[in-house]
Amino acid sequence: MAILEDPLPLVVGDKAAKPLARALELRTVGDLLRHYPRRYETRGDLTDLASLRDGEYVTVQAEIAKVTSRPMRGRRGTIVEATVTDGRGQLTLTFFARGRQDWRERQLAPGLHGLFSGQVSTFRGKRQLAHPEYELLGLDDDAHRAAEYAAEIIPVYPAANGITSWRIAAAVRIVLDVLDIEDPMPRAIRRRHGLCGLADALRGIHRPIDRADVQRSTKRLKWDEAFLLQTVLAQRRLAATAYSATPRPRATGGLLDEYDARLPFRLTIGQELAGTQIGEEIARDHPMNRLLQGEVGSGKTVIAVRAMLQVVDAGGQAVLLAPTEVLAQQHYRSITEQLGPLAQAGQLGGAEHATRVALLTGSLGAPARRRALLEAASGDAGIVVGTHALLEEQVQFADLGLVVIDEQHRFGVEQRDALRDKAGDGRPHLLVMTATPIPRTVAMTVFGDLEMSTLTELPAGRSPIATHVVPAAEKPHYVERVWERLREEAGRGRQCYVVCPRIGGAAGDARGGTDDDEGDRLYGPAGGDGPDGDRAGPGARPPVAVLDLAAGLERGPLAGLRLAVLHGRLPPDEKDRAMLAFAAGSVDVLITTTVVEVGVDVPNATAMVIMDADRFGVSQLHQLRGRVGRGRHEGLCLLVTEAEAGSKSRQRLDAVAATLDGFMLSRLDLEQRREGDVLGAAQAGRRSSLKLLTLLKDEELIGQAREEARNLVAADPALAGEPALATAVRVLLEREQAEYLEKA
Ligand code: ADP
Ligand code: MG
Repeated sequence: MAILEDPLPLVVGDKAAKPLARALELRTVGDLLRHYPRRYETRGDLTDLASLRDGEYVTVQAEIAKVTSRPMRGRRGTIVEATVTDGRGQLTLTFFARGRQDWRERQLAPGLHGLFSGQVSTFRGKRQLAHPEYELLGLDDDAHRAAEYAAEIIPVYPAANGITSWRIAAAVRIVLDVLDIEDPMPRAIRRRHGLCGLADALRGIHRPIDRADVQRSTKRLKWDEAFLLQTVLAQRRLAATAYSATPRPRATGGLLDEYDARLPFRLTIGQELAGTQIGEEIARDHPMNRLLQGEVGSGKTVIAVRAMLQVVDAGGQAVLLAPTEVLAQQHYRSITEQLGPLAQAGQLGGAEHATRVALLTGSLGAPARRRALLEAASGDAGIVVGTHALLEEQVQFADLGLVVIDEQHRFGVEQRDALRDKAGDGRPHLLVMTATPIPRTVAMTVFGDLEMSTLTELPAGRSPIATHVVPAAEKPHYVERVWERLREEAGRGRQCYVVCPRIGGAAGDARGGTDDDEGDRLYGPAGGDGPDGDRAGPGARPPVAVLDLAAGLERGPLAGLRLAVLHGRLPPDEKDRAMLAFAAGSVDVLITTTVVEVGVDVPNATAMVIMDADRFGVSQLHQLRGRVGRGRHEGLCLLVTEAEAGSKSRQRLDAVAATLDGFMLSRLDLEQRREGDVLGAAQAGRRSSLKLLTLLKDEELIGQAREEARNLVAADPALAGEPALATAVRVLLEREQAEYLEKA
């Protein structure tokens, strides 16, 4: 009898287990059983041979049409060639051998159906599988096999080099025969949602009797994925409420009141509502755990600063974690500017109950770093802004009351916890901000342990952004017009960004591909393996690079303008200098990688040109263009691309040009990208636990699973009454932990 945690060699033997581990990283019974068929073939339904692509590992069902054998030329040995057909097209199977292969010739008898597995290639204009593995259908007198092929439906597993679909099926069959598992899903929940048992479902998805069997099993297994994850999240939420936090009630006449009085604009209704809610929650003796999402430019930072000041007024400290150096610097500058004398405690001209703002990043010199550490530890700095450097052990606080994380998707839960653990007794309040609109199910899955606030409107007076696709291949002269347009903007005293997918220069070319270095993104750059794999073929030119383009523009169409470059390979102080110069208006055109992506705020910047725009993800383009149109003047975004009209890439760009609705675009992104990419590296453990669930289509199921998990965990927090579920949760958490450590 086998359980899910049993190592495969124990159950199927070393010989069968080895290729499973090597080719597919399947090591336990559970791993194998959760390696689901990619599709099912109905017996007698031949695979469409025209759909095969060169280089792919495939398993096809086809009929043998003819077999020939001939001696190899100039060498000893024979070549057997079999031609198989789907009734329309043909595929050649080639077998080489030192000696004779009469047996094979006899075996591959015309008229037989078989499964053939191998890598597709083209030889002399003909599609072939060289030395495929195969299994002929209906020939085997082994009773097991006979039963197998009597079944209507044949599972076809994702093929890989070194292991065939039917070897996987054979291992699965052995495992299913000895499987003895307890169902982790409580019986009542199964009944309520009409779900079959787990063992049943595993059998049904691997060895279905009919299509309905597949459906029933898939539904149950999707439920498993959603329910398990939601149980973990429900436990995490519950555990969070068990922590205590120091209440930080709003004080009157403090920094927050003065800050509000100094604000040069009125808060939007959304900002007021979210702000009030956050203000109330941080006044409680349980930690707040809140996600604030809102379009780029919706004014999240103001809300964060107000929350931080409330905490400072109440005697605590607040920390703001930004994903990049550029952003941390920008936050630091804008907060100190906005606070003015309120941030100059102990300085001449400082206000009466002023505080201090400290900046802590990896690039600080030793003295500045020591000063920042001291201000944080002593409590002199009410607000500490920084990057990952904040997570280091030496960073300590006198009384940390609030953790704000900007653009959460670049940080994992573990990093959140690392910061929160710096709060001594109890836990600090937590505010997570993200500018990437997140579809509800993604939010429930990725941020399921947080409560949610959403800013839906942009501050009034914000100018709209007009976006156009510039088809560089069809209309080269349009590109000249692009540069003219930038000259016009500069002539009116406005500023522009030119964004490229690559840095370039000698080192950049050696590294190849996109080489921005700011870490993983939820909706990251398409890079080499993005949605446009079709462009990466031989002969394709490398993507436009910052350094090359800057040199060309300086000599050519933008000669005489003040240009600067910004990219991740610059030393931090140079990055900062470039950004500062741009913010101060002493640079007309900033030529940059996506370092400039999230949160950068220069209101005088009105135009953005994105080169090779098809290299970027939909949501990322949307975020990028959010850098312009932040001031009084209308924003302009030009998406330059060589992608052909009507191609997938062009359709994506057209979609971006057609709408400013970030939620719609993020759904589109989710549809087009592999889900794992969307969940991001930080959720690696979770990614590998979601196999059947699709976050867009299974919204209802995820919602129901969340509800059930919440109720169950509320009634039985430790899952004492559900030992099998408790085990499944433990296994998931261990896996997440292991994958996290592997990355670190
Ligand atoms: P994001 O949500 O992208 O982080 P920010 O907080 O950076 O947005 O705000 C973008 C810009 O809008 C900033 O310059 C900020 O000062 C300004 N802003 C914020 N709230 C308002 C408002 N209610 N009215 C006018 N401008 C605002
Ligand atoms: Mg921001």
